Amino acid sequence: TFRAILIDKSEDGQTLSFTELTEDQLMDGSVTVAVEHSTVNYKDGLAVTGKGPIIRKYPLVPGIDFAGTVTKSDHADYREGDRVVLNGWGVGEKHHGGYAERARVPGEWLVPLPDRISTAQAMAIGTAGYTAMLCVMALEEQGVSPASGEVVVTGAAGGVGSVAISILARLGYTVVASTGRTEEEDYLKSLGASSVIDRDEFSGPVKPLAKARWAGAVDVAGSTTLANLLSQMEYGGAVAACGLAQGMDLPASVAPFILRGARLIGVDSVYRPRPQRLEAWKRLERDLDLDTLDSLSSHIALEDVPDAAADIVAGKVRGRIVVDL
Ligand code: NAP
Repeated sequence: TFRAILIDKSEDGQTLSFTELTEDQLMDGSVTVAVEHSTVNYKDGLAVTGKGPIIRKYPLVPGIDFAGTVTKSDHADYREGDRVVLNGWGVGEKHHGGYAERARVPGEWLVPLPDRISTAQAMAIGTAGYTAMLCVMALEEQGVSPASGEVVVTGAAGGVGSVAISILARLGYTVVASTGRTEEEDYLKSLGASSVIDRDEFSGPVKPLAKARWAGAVDVAGSTTLANLLSQMEYGGAVAACGLAQGMDLPASVAPFILRGARLIGVDSVYRPRPQRLEAWKRLERDLDLDTLDSLSSHIALEDVPDAAADIVAGKVRGRIVVDL
């Protein structure tokens, strides 16, 4: 048997228990993995607390990410002993996830871990960090380069934000960090932010166009923040939008698009095709400073996941959390 968190549904809503499962209780898949680490993303926070409709099958082991070592494989690409990472694909939503000592998934969902990245570092990256990389790649595809001008990252002290700042700074961008926690200025500068602004600057009434300031942006907030960001884009600037930490709505106008040629690029990590995942993990190995990554992550035990889930939904988590199994 192995330890796991299990979420079930009762008349009063979701219930959470710590339990022991056997491998034959795992779902179908060609590869079984001894999970060494998982993590707590914002989405895991919503799933574990039940504050968002993430879990679509009960009972379910939550956890949208895991990293570990293959113990059994019927898939041609994987052998016992291989180090692998999994992000998304509905794991922790409708397929048993990472908050367990064992996981079984279709081999096509797995990514072989790059040599330089440990399983713990893979989870310090997690869906949040892999999405941050996808956002940076999206800006590059739009021609945003360090020479283009300032790039702003919202939700800077959170998971996606912290990793995005680290990558962009290492690539030579001038990064402005937008946060509601301005007391974290030293932390954000240690990641490579050149300056820190209060996220209130993006919370006022949205004008069709405001003073142009940003060549690029990574946005995790959505809502008024994204709308204000768009109105502040330089001519031809691009925003990579991946989150809804502020809200799902977008109270914007078309003015930034039709008068400044601003571009709004949506970023999804969950069902991202495999070739781009492989590329993102290769880029993470090359472009993310692993010492900085260690400095922005903290470790917890499986027993601490419910508290961490409540904290991340309350916006109280700084950087990234690694769950040690
Ligand atoms: P996180 O660690 O909780 O970071 C979110 C950050 O957003 C918070 O730390 C806070 O940063 C900021 N924030 C919170 N409430 C806000 C508000 N009302 N207005 C403006 N900013 C606010 O979460 P995460 O794991 O990095 O995820 C961030 C977002 O990206 C979530 O919405 C998540 O669902 C989304 N996401 C999407 C994908 C995808 O595939 N599209 C993948 C990963 C994550 P400060 O304290 O610094 O202000």
